[in-house]
This record gives sequence, structure tokens and C-alpha cells, in this order.
Amino acid sequence: MRVLITGGAGFLGSHLCDRFLAEGHTVIAMDNLITGNTDNIAHLAGHEQFLFIQHDVTNYIFIEGPLDAILHFASPASPIDYLQLPIQTLKVGALGTHKALGLAKDKGARFLLASTSEVYGDPQVHPQPETYYGHVNPIGPRGVYDEAKRFAEALVMAYHRYHGVDTRIVRIFNTYGPRMRLHDGRVVPNFIGQSVKGEPLTVYGDGSQTRSFQYVDDLIEGIYRLLLSDEVSPVNIGNPREFTILSFAEMVNRMTANPGGIIYKDARTQDDPQVRQPDIRKAKQVLNWEAKITLEEGLEKTIPWFRQELQRLGEL
Ligand code: UDP
Repeated sequence: MRVLITGGAGFLGSHLCDRFLAEGHTVIAMDNLITGNTDNIAHLAGHEQFLFIQHDVTNYIFIEGPLDAILHFASPASPIDYLQLPIQTLKVGALGTHKALGLAKDKGARFLLASTSEVYGDPQVHPQPETYYGHVNPIGPRGVYDEAKRFAEALVMAYHRYHGVDTRIVRIFNTYGPRMRLHDGRVVPNFIGQSVKGEPLTVYGDGSQTRSFQYVDDLIEGIYRLLLSDEVSPVNIGNPREFTILSFAEMVNRMTANPGGIIYKDARTQDDPQVRQPDIRKAKQVLNWEAKITLEEGLEKTIPWFRQELQRLGEL
């Protein structure tokens, strides 16, 4: 296959580039580098089947030659990013998805949208199955991301129904691993960064809110299977093992032998989902997929990477 990955220099996009190249496909990565970074794909420079194009996908996308698949992963994705880049976040979810779908229609390519558990908002159904419509505040701080992704899903289904584009939608739950941005403000980089520096971990609120964390390799496997499947309706990909943020902080402190302890902060409580856990029965059934890597195993792979990066940048 000849594949276009938007957001190809980002955390998930770069892991997708690696996977598709490893499977023998040709990959074109596109990124405007506002939150992506070429460090993530530097190891692919000179690869004969790899091409990087710096481009903002909210503008017209021109690609020469055939395309078999487009994976649309371009978007700011951490709460502090989309709070700082609210308009870009809305534009890439709406205009960027429109451009990428238009390209898929033109090329006759299969299209896969990176959607998110955020379409469920602060959920009132737990765990969240794909049939749940969600509980999103459109005008809250997270609305720019949540609504952009909800609109993107609607647009994908419209292109599927009206133009017959072959489409897939993955709803991605919290994912972590090497190449996450050190300072993207999310709980995994924050806690690992703080713990390897011997600082206290910043738990927002009382830490009773929950998340379910999946290691990046599990997600990439799920996405690969979904692309090759026939499933047009959205599929949750996530690890259903759920932790309170407080117990997650305690786990990170234990694994890094951090003497710094925990401090509680009032930050980011508005619309912060109280619970989040994927119902993955559909992924099991249609993709024969489930997460295999435990949080402990995933952190064993991720903590050394963060330590090395912080050293490289002179922060440790
Ligand atoms: N969080 C925290 N301390 C931090 C960063 C985040 O307690 O230093 C909390 C945050 O309030 C949220 C959870 O961790 O409840 C997950 O936040 P994250 O930004 O990783 O992603 P989200 O799942 O909210 O999109």
C-alpha cells in the first residue's frame, strides 16, 4: 500500500509510520509541526519508502500518484495544547478532515479517522460502549477538541454515505509510551518527568477521577487491524484496566522510588471527565483485538525513555 499519515511527526503518527514501513508499505508523513516534531521521524530519514511533507492539512492537500489509505491523525491532542491552540484544533478537526476526506475520495483511498474517547465527554455511562452518544459541554474548555472530533466523525460518515468513501473510525482512549511530548501537560509525561527528577507528583483535584491507560504498541496493533477490517462504524481501542489518578501517582512513585510524594492542585477541574474506561467488546469481536501490555510493563518501557530524553535536553 501507499499510505498518507497526517500528523505523521506526532506521537501516534510516528509510531504508525514505523508500523506501516515495517509491514513493507510506502509511507508519506504530513505534519505542520505545531505539536509534532521531526525528532520522532528522524530515524526514518533516507528510508526509500518514506517521505515527509511539511504541510498544514487545513489547506488544500496535493499528493502526486496513487494512495491506498489515508490515516488522519493530525490534531493537537493534549488538554493544554488545545487550550493554547483552540482555533487550530477546531480547524484541523473540521477543515483538515474535510481536505483529507476529499483527497481520499479523489484517490479512491480508504480513510481512517483518529477519533477519541473525548467524544463521550464526562460520561454518564460507564464503561463507555460505542453506542453511547456522550455528555459533552460544547462551550467548555475541552469543547474545541471534543466537538471538532464529533464533527469529524459526522463528516466521515457523510463522505461514506454520500460519496461511498471506504471509511474507518477509531476512538482512542488514553495512550502513552515513548515519543510523547515531555511537556504536553498530560498526566503520564507530568508524573514520569516529576518522579525522575525527585519532585512531588501534581495530582489535580482529589485524584479520585479515573483513566484507563494503554501502551502505544497495543493501540497501533488495533488501528492496523481496524484499517484492514470491514468495520465502518466507530471502534473503541483502549485498555480497560482503570485506575484513579491518585493510585496511578502512587504506582509511578513506587516504580521510580521517588521520595517526592504527592501534592494536590486545583488545576483543570472544569469538565475534567470523572471516569473513563473503554468497553472493548466490539474490538474483541470484530478485530479479535485486546490490549496485551499491562500498565507496569508499559511504564517499564516508557520511564527509561523519558529519563534519556530529559538528560538529552539537559533537564536531568
Ligand atoms: N492530571 C493530574 N496531574 C497532572 C496532569 C493531569 O492529576 O499533572 C489529571 C487530569 O486532571 C485528568 C487526568 O490526570 O483527570 C488525565 O489527564 P490527561 O491530561 O492525561 O488527559 P485527559 O484524559 O484528561 O484527556
